[in-house]
Amino acid sequence: MKKIVILGGGTGGTVVANILARKISREAEITLVNNSPQHIYQPGFLYLALGEILDESKITREEEKLLDRKIRLVIDNAVKIDVQNRMVILSSGKQLEYDYLVISTGSRIVPEEVQGYEASYHFYSLDGARRLYEALERFREGVIAVGIGGIPYKCPPAPAEFCCLLDYYFTKRGIRNKVEIHYLSPLPRTFPHEAVAEAITKMMEKKGIHWHPMFNIESIDPEKKIVNSLEGESLKFDLLVMVPPHRGAEVIEASGLGVDGGWVPVDKHTLQYKDYSEVYAIGDATNLPVSKSGAAAHFEAKIVADRISSEIMGDEPRAMYDGRVLCFCDAGFRKAIYMDFNYERPPKKPRFSYLWYLGKQMVNKFYWSLILKGIV
Ligand SMILES: Cc1cc2nc3c(=O)[nH]c(=O)nc-3n(C[C@H](O)[C@H](O)[C@H](O)COP(=O)(O)OP(=O)(O)OC[C@H]3O[C@@H](n4cnc5c(N)ncnc54)[C@H](O)[C@@H]3O)c2cc1C
Repeated sequence: MKKIVILGGGTGGTVVANILARKISREAEITLVNNSPQHIYQPGFLYLALGEILDESKITREEEKLLDRKIRLVIDNAVKIDVQNRMVILSSGKQLEYDYLVISTGSRIVPEEVQGYEASYHFYSLDGARRLYEALERFREGVIAVGIGGIPYKCPPAPAEFCCLLDYYFTKRGIRNKVEIHYLSPLPRTFPHEAVAEAITKMMEKKGIHWHPMFNIESIDPEKKIVNSLEGESLKFDLLVMVPPHRGAEVIEASGLGVDGGWVPVDKHTLQYKDYSEVYAIGDATNLPVSKSGAAAHFEAKIVADRISSEIMGDEPRAMYDGRVLCFCDAGFRKAIYMDFNYERPPKKPRFSYLWYLGKQMVNKFYWSLILKGIV
């Protein structure tokens, strides 16, 4: 029996484990280690912050219930990965040996890396989204700024999407004319891809959202309520929403596997770590030049499951990741855009439509069943 250990039971880890269990549970023992018994659907944080979801149980499930029964779930924190000896050490002291390892430990947020961060809010954790919801409910008038404290971060369209949803939120409350929304873009445009940026910029201008190019947040003055950029600009705000800086999981740095902030360097097609062909990494944990997104984690999980199962069944592993990402961006008022791109093919100029809004609702709905099982 081969031993497969998957570290991290978020989007990517759950998909890879479920596919492997379907394909090779007779040939391999599959263990998934997650440091929490709970699985959170992170795109739901946006809707929690804006009061569209009030019941948190709608975006959380027990990880155990999402996994095929043939998978062994261990709730523990991995503290060290020893690639030389093919072993993972857990905080309980247990050691797990493996023949194949899949690292899917995602990213962690480090707001404290920005001076004055305590004067800001965010929607990048359950607590953060809850706190932001309360602040927005109290907000009656003034300037709201939405900016970015460091690149890379999860879900590149999320802050622009949040600005559009704020416009919708304050319109519904009947106070849109008393609120100024400012988007502080870290780039010279509103989105990394030019064709998409054109559509988002137009939408923002139509909604009266002010956007500032090249505004990478460097520090915040909590007393004066001023946010300063690395580029030397400043803006006075009444409420600041800052996407916190992101880093790889602590275990990656503790094991000496990470580069540039704790991201695991992998081959962009095979997803293997350096010369260790039995070690794979997927999703936010990697240093791949694709969006840190559930969609990328999901596509990469399918590739890795295919490669490992082929090898265990005695075939040549042939599946290659082509950099595919797909993504919906909700603009409020039941309109959204859709993008589908990969390493070679940039996204086409998208159109806002009700159809793509429904598409996003379908993804939200089928995440727990079809997506996490790796069926779609
Ligand atoms: C507000 C917001 C909106 C988003 N919207 C979208 C969207 O519309 N579309 C989209 O595709 N993506 C979206 N994303 C991004 C998406 O949620 C993530 O990119 C995706 O979850 C990454 O999957 P992953 O498996 O790499 O990591 P995760 O899903 O984060 O899972 C990592 C898991 O590893 C565990 N872990 C970490 N360290 C250890 C350790 N040492 N030991 C054991 N377990 C460990 C964690 O607890 C976690 O369960 C959004 C994210 C946010 C925050």
